[in-house]
Amino acid sequence: MKIAVCVKQVPDATVHKRIDPVTKRLDRSGEGALNPTDLNAVEEALRIKEGQGGEVVLVSLGPEKAMESLRKALAMGADRALLLSDEAAAGSDLVGTTVALASALERVEADLVLFGQASSDGDGAVLSAAVADRLRRPLISQVASLAVDGDSVTGKRQTEHGYDLISAPLPAVIAVSDAINEPRYPSLKGIMGAKSKLQETVALTDLGVDAERVGEAGAQTTVLDLGAPPSRGDQVKIEDDGSAAQKILDYVLERRLL
Ligand SMILES: Cc1cc2nc3c(=O)[nH]c(=O)nc-3n(C[C@H](O)[C@H](O)[C@H](O)COP(=O)(O)OP(=O)(O)OC[C@H]3O[C@@H](n4cnc5c(N)ncnc54)[C@H](O)[C@@H]3O)c2cc1C
Repeated sequence: MKIAVCVKQVPDATVHKRIDPVTKRLDRSGEGALNPTDLNAVEEALRIKEGQGGEVVLVSLGPEKAMESLRKALAMGADRALLLSDEAAAGSDLVGTTVALASALERVEADLVLFGQASSDGDGAVLSAAVADRLRRPLISQVASLAVDGDSVTGKRQTEHGYDLISAPLPAVIAVSDAINEPRYPSLKGIMGAKSKLQETVALTDLGVDAERVGEAGAQTTVLDLGAPPSRGDQVKIEDDGSAAQKILDYVLERRLL
């Protein structure tokens, strides 16, 4: 079974997010990390591979430095990484991202394509559906438990009112929920081994993608404006000189928050 896992490098959670006022895009030049919910997709792929054998291939669209973040998933146990990185792809909106990722996935020819729940920087939670549509493959989203049996896959899908049990023939696309599993931590052996795994970076031309269909050229949406989140109002900064816990307690009690 060949499983492709779509993973994205996002700004590290500790980095202050800044929007470039000219491009109106998120400034992604700082420290990056693997998108947190993609770890659930990687974990699920590894569990399937451990049960049935096969290969886990990471697929990503992003800047060259995204490979640093993909190494974490290689250290967890994924077999190889394919990163589509091209200046012309910068500024890809949902449609452009879908064109690029679908081309990379066509090259991998996986039986199963896994997505995380949502990216922490875009948070659209729609990319999996758009890619499944472009690949003309069935999609099961919000999957909280997954079983692969022969040439079909069954997902238990979380809903507001309970759950749906949905089956689809392979090849299929699955977007997992973050409730599906607890991602493993990479072992020291895994971290060392990741360095020697295949880490392939390809350009648009390698995949035969017309640059006019991605990036700014292919974008069908324009960001008109972006606003800062509303101020949180009354804030107090407590420095820890050894009495921070007491100060926090006093603060909470004064405001009758407990
Ligand atoms: C005008 C415009 C310009 C933009 N420019 C950029 C840009 O320059 N750089 C940029 O990063 N984003 C850019 N974006 C955002 C980008 O289009 C979205 O990140 C993309 O469409 C995916 O949507 P999402 O982030 O909501 O992902 P979601 O749908 O929330 O993600 C779900 C899952 O999809 C997978 N996934 C998401 N993104 C990727 C990826 N890149 N590679 C592999 N798997 C992925 C992961 O498994 C993730 O868990 C731009 C958006 C607009 C509207």
